[in-house]
Amino acid sequence: MSAIEDVVNELSRLPTIGRKSAMRLTYHLLKQPPEQSKRLASALAVLTDRVRTCDRCHNLTEETLCEICADPRRDHSLICAVEEAGDIAAIERTGEFRGVFHVLRGRLSPLDGVGPDDLTVDGLARRVAAGGVREVLIATNPKLEGEATALYVQEQLATFDVLVTRIARGIPVGGDLEYADGVTIAQAITARREMK
Ligand code: ZN
Repeated sequence: MSAIEDVVNELSRLPTIGRKSAMRLTYHLLKQPPEQSKRLASALAVLTDRVRTCDRCHNLTEETLCEICADPRRDHSLICAVEEAGDIAAIERTGEFRGVFHVLRGRLSPLDGVGPDDLTVDGLARRVAAGGVREVLIATNPKLEGEATALYVQEQLATFDVLVTRIARGIPVGGDLEYADGVTIAQAITARREMK
């Protein structure tokens, strides 16, 4: 396999990058000074070596605890449960949420073979059981699977003395939190309702 083909194949594995875009990127890199590709290659190598998940919330971090969990100015009595670490970035961009997070690492999806044991709901329940948590805001995406996941999380927390809320439907149904604009996300958080 040629070097060009190799890179095109690897790039086309990435989400949203089709074969045509992969070829365009590869040819673009070949036109740049070689240092640019070398910097990209070493940045990617360092990425997988250094980045790990937070011991408490499963956010991406280079430390034992992520920046948010380690920040005493955050409201640690309010935990926002999200599907992916990327959702944290989307909520953080709004600058409106002062609580902490819990990454569920996906959503229930029987068709894709994702069951309760694949998610980090146990860890969330342990955090609530440890005390000091007033509210869990479930911010899974408003798709069928996100809703099913929200109900499952609610069930798992039912025995604890904690308020369980769900983001309002400001996010378009079937939309992804990650791609929603900041105002929409901020409104969905402000207008959250109690799950009963
Ligand atoms: Zn964390």
